[in-house]
Parts: sequence; C-alpha cells; structure tokens
Amino acid sequence: MRASRGPQSFQPVFYLLEIKPPEKINTLYVSPGIESLLGCSPEDFKIEVLIERIDKRDRQNVAPLTQLVTEEKELERAYRLRNKEGDVVLLKEYIAVVERSDETFKVAGLLTVVNEREDIKDFILQNIPDLIVLIDRRGFVKFSAGSFKRVLGLSTKEVKGKLFMSRVHPSEREGLLRMINKVYQTPGQEAIYVFRVLDKSCNYSWMEGTIILPKAHESEGIKGAVMRMRKLPDQNDLEWAISKAVNYDPLTGLPNRYLFTENLAEYLNLLKRKGEMAAILVINIYRFREVNATFGMRIGDEILKKVASRLLKTLRTSDLVGRFMADEFCIALLGIKTLTGINVAVEKVKNVFREPFVVDGNQVFLDINIGVSTFPIDGEEVGELIRKAEAALAKSREGGPGTVSYFSESIEEEIRGITTIRNALGEALEKREIVPYYQPVFSLREGKLIGVEALARWESPDLGTLDPARFISVAEDTGLIVDIGYCILNQAVRDISTINGQGIKLSLGVNFSARQFNDDSLPYKVREILEAYRFPPERFIMEITESTAMREPEKTREILLRMRGMGLKLAIDDFGTGYSSMNYLMEFEVDKIKIDKSFVLNMKNNQKAERVVSTIINLTKSIGARSLAEGVENREIFEKLVKLGCDEGQGFYFAKPMSFDKLREYVSERL
Ligand code: C2E
Ligand code: CA
Ligand code: CA
Repeated sequence: MRASRGPQSFQPVFYLLEIKPPEKINTLYVSPGIESLLGCSPEDFKIEVLIERIDKRDRQNVAPLTQLVTEEKELERAYRLRNKEGDVVLLKEYIAVVERSDETFKVAGLLTVVNEREDIKDFILQNIPDLIVLIDRRGFVKFSAGSFKRVLGLSTKEVKGKLFMSRVHPSEREGLLRMINKVYQTPGQEAIYVFRVLDKSCNYSWMEGTIILPKAHESEGIKGAVMRMRKLPDQNDLEWAISKAVNYDPLTGLPNRYLFTENLAEYLNLLKRKGEMAAILVINIYRFREVNATFGMRIGDEILKKVASRLLKTLRTSDLVGRFMADEFCIALLGIKTLTGINVAVEKVKNVFREPFVVDGNQVFLDINIGVSTFPIDGEEVGELIRKAEAALAKSREGGPGTVSYFSESIEEEIRGITTIRNALGEALEKREIVPYYQPVFSLREGKLIGVEALARWESPDLGTLDPARFISVAEDTGLIVDIGYCILNQAVRDISTINGQGIKLSLGVNFSARQFNDDSLPYKVREILEAYRFPPERFIMEITESTAMREPEKTREILLRMRGMGLKLAIDDFGTGYSSMNYLMEFEVDKIKIDKSFVLNMKNNQKAERVVSTIINLTKSIGARSLAEGVENREIFEKLVKLGCDEGQGFYFAKPMSFDKLREYVSERL
C-alpha cells in the first residue's frame, strides 16, 4: 500500500554525537524516530548507516560531520536519502555544535523529512550546495539561490542586480559577459567559464560557471540565462593558471592565436546559421620594435597592455580580440549585417590609435596597418579567413602606415563608396540636401487618396538623387539617422500642413528608426513640431518596424507608449518580415499594420503569399487595426486586395514617391 508509506509516517529524529576529528564519532543519544527512517533501533544506530543511505547523487555534496564541526558552529543542509522502504526522501538536517573542547565536539542534530507538498522547491533552492543565478544579457542578476552565504559569505541581496558583475574579477568580467552573450545566441547549449568572484572578506574565489539559456525561456515570462557556479578547490588555481598560459597571452591576458582561432571557429558556425557577416582584422603596429628600442621593453609592454584594454573597451562585448604576436593583434567583428557596419567598426579601431599612449610621462603615438577579410564573402573557414586578412595586411603595408586593406578588391571598392557617403552625409544634412518625397496612400474600397508616406531622398549635386537604400543604413550605423529623422519629420509636417486645409485632409506617415528611441526627448520633439505647424496628432502616423517595436529596452516601450498617449497613430511597417508577438503589439494599440511588399508583390502567382496576406488582413481586423498593403503594382493585385478586405494600399499602381512640388500638383488634380 503505497499511500501509507509516504513521508508523513516519519517522525523527526534528534541525535547527540561526540566527535573527535579526524574520524571518530560516538552516538550518545538518538531518538526512537530513527526506526521510522532507517528501520533500526536506537541501540543499533551508527552514523555510518545513515551515510550509506545517502543518495549517490548527493554523496559528494554532503561533507562529513568531522570536517563540518571544525568549520561551522551550526548549519542546515539537505540531501536525498533512501529510507527503510528503499524510497528516496528529501532529508533536512539541522546541526549545531553544543560543546567544544580542544579535541572533542558535542554535536546535536535534528533530522526531518521534507514533505513533498511543502514548498520543497524553495527548500532545495536555498540549500543547494551550488550557487545559482538567473542572469540577463548585461550580466544583471535577476534571481539568485543556493549557498551564497556559506560559499562566499554573501546574502542573496548582495548578488542581485549589477552588484554581481562588480564582484567578478575585472580580468574575467569581459569574458564572462561574452560567454553570456554567446549563450543568448544559442539557446539550449551550455557554456562553461571559469572566473573569480570577490567574497565577503575581499578574497577572490575561483568559480566554475555553467551557463545555459533555457530554450523556452521567454514563453513563461522568465527572461534570463541560468548560471550554476561551483567553487573550485584551491589546487585548481594551479591547473587554471596552466590552462591560461596555454590559451592566453600572459602580457595582455587576451586569447592567443590558438584560443582566438578556436573561439572564432565556433562563432562562425553560429553566424552561418543566422546569415550574418563577420570581419576579421589583423592589426600590426607600425615599427613597434623602434618603440621598444627607444623607450625600453618595460614601457613597450605597458603600451601593449593599454592597446589591449583600449581595444576591449571600444569594441562590442560580442567581438573577439586576440594577440597573435608581439605587435600583432587580431579582431573579429561578429554579427555585422551590412558592409557599412564593417566600415564603422574599422573606423572605431583606427580611432583607438589616434590618441597617444602615455606611460610614465612618455607620450607615444602609434601608427597601424590593418588587413581585413570578410566572412562569408572571402571564405567560410577560420584558417582561410585569417590567412586572407594577413595577406591584406601585407598589401596594406605597401600603402604606408595608417592604410586599411581589404582582401577582396570588390569589397574594398564598395567600402570606399560607403566611406564617401559617410563623409558626405553630414554635410548633405547641413546643406539641406536630404528631403522628403511623398508616396500617396489610398483607401482601397473608395479608391480615395487619404494620405502620404514621407520617404527620404538625398538630392546630391554630385551623385544625383539617391534612394534611402544607399544612405539609410550608413546613417543608422553612424547615428546620423537621428538627425535625418528629425530633418524629414520637420519638413514633412511643414509640407503636408500647407496642403491640408485646402479642401483635403491627408494623413502623414513618417518612418522612425530604432536609434531614434534612444533619445528620451523624442516625444517632446515630435509634439513640438506638430504644435508648431498645428498638425493634428491623430493624422500623424509613426511607422516603425516589428523589430523596433520589439526592442528589449524598457525605454523604447516607454517612449512608444508615451507617444501613443499623445494621440499619434502607430503603424507597424514591413509586417511579416520580422519577429513579433501579437500580444505585445496589442499593448501599444497599433492602429495600422503595413503588410510588407514582398508578400504583396508575390500575390500575383503565388498562392501561399496570397494566404499570408489574407491571414495578416484578418489578424489586423481582429485587433481592431487597419491593414495597408505596400507594393501594389498593378490592377490585378489591387482587385485581389479589395476582395480580401484590405483597407488601404500604397504602390506604383497608384503613384510612385514624388517631390513635394509634384505632390502639390498631384493633389490639386484630385480635388
Ligand atoms: P518603407 O518604409 O517600407 O518604404 C516603402 C518603400 O517601398 C519605399 O522605398 C517605396 O519607394 C517603395 N515602394 C512603394 N511602392 C512600391 C511598389 O509598388 N513596388 C515596389 N517594388 N516598391 C515600392 P524607398 O523610398 O526606397 O525607401 C526604402 C526604405 O528606406 C523605407 O522602406 C524605409 O524603411 C527607409 N526610409 C525611407 N525614408 C526614411 C526616413 O525618413 N527615416 C527612416 N528611418 N527610414 C526611411
Ligand atoms: Ca514605411
Ligand atoms: Ca514598408
């Protein structure tokens, strides 16, 4: 009868032991309850019987009493034990040293079985011999459990938030963050990292952390990676030091060529799956030998250390930095989405060397050469990519100090083009060469012009009229997008307010990029502009993409909600191309869903695309928003959309984006 064998039938056991370290334990007293646990009478009880019954999985974690009494005055612990019926029960043991002389200790203990129906999970969490934290991408601890008190002398409060990272040894902080980041990119895969943590008495303990991002981590509202930490025994210091010597450059602490290559290989596999790019930069310090000869090796070494720390500080934590040779560093810029990204990052690296390095009052300016290869364009394999970056470095040396060379000529050319645009863009903005064009938006049922979307154009005297594809991504990467955004916003609101009121009331859609949400004052600035031209907020539509809306920082959310609160309308742009959750979007009370043109264009001869469009239209209805089809290019598609019940449309079938002058004509013809 199983029911009667539950842990309820167990009576607590009280014991009193006399202990003589290192080994001897005498039982002075044990209460009769022991019978219900182990099936032996108090007279027959020996501590060995209890120890034998400890579950295999916990045996290593249960320290012998002889050792405990010399270290602790009292403690509470838990472990699994096979009871007299052979069932595994969770046993809670409270131990207190009641008498202590030079050689013997008297110890009182209380054994209870934790009832499964009590809060067993909490109990385990608090008594687990490891340290467990739930950690977010930035290294903030959101939840902690386990024996922090016993292992580090810290209360759980003391490891919450960013306090935890500040306890990690500075030389391992970067690496730990990188590891956490890596884990975030590969849910379900474990990573192990060894690092030091500062304990209550200001000593560092080596910890082995096993980190994993549970696969279903978002679905249950729990966000974070789980890290289990285990204190390494002190003899591991030595082992660890040896492994460090094999893998790391002792001077700068950076990974050496071997480890760098290993790490990079791992990341490349990941990027391949995500379809992202990487750039591999090999950097050589020009005539470093002369620096050594002039200032001495010691100062030379100090400079190299500073180079390493500046590089680490400048680059993203997700990038890799290593030292290959005395004066050669290697960097892998990971997860780059555009060539502009590479261009921007290379500039950042060059900037690191613009400022002099100061050691003992000596100011030393360093020149560098950089060779770059790109993944996957120049190759997919680590060795090949590094060789190609080194070949590019050799080429860059011919160009003299300060030269950056790319392995492939075509990329070098393209990057040169991007550099031209980058350099000219700031000036173009000042010269008011960035202007909005307007594409009409129609209601599909009535076939009526109801609004416009503002689309940026660069009217360059040298380059002609450029589409956003040529410069928006450059502007995003350099941050200029924020200024461009305000510039378009201001002109568009001004333009459309001069048209409105003359027998027509157009809505105005303006594109916002994610970067603009880093600016807290965005809502005020938008309000200011709308008020300046008396533009009614309900006819103003913020267009943001799914990924902008879903951006993690609470800030974006907060700004969006605030702008929504001002009465502006919100449209989700390029819908269907990104990842988003309807639940989340509903929070913002989205007014309009703009179905991405890729689906609409494909509707012509693709049943699946038509089903996608139809689904989005219905979904939009169900959340009480309006649907808009982008990229309506012909009558056939227009009619299909009307049939599917789509509310609005925009595309070449109606009109292409046009300058403000053209728009004025266009509108007046339709009055
Ligand atoms: P978007 O917001 O999705 O804009 C719609 C794009 O589709 C425009 O490209 C438009 O010219 C194009 N288009 C319109 N009708 C049709 C059609 O029937 N067929 C086809 N194939 N395409 C059509 P455009 O003007 O080149 O703009 C490209 C993107 O640049 C925009 O995509 C938007 O994401 C971005 N962008 C434009 N202006 C701004 C701006 O002021 N700020 C920001 N942050 N991004 C902007
Ligand atoms: Ca748009
Ligand atoms: Ca769009």
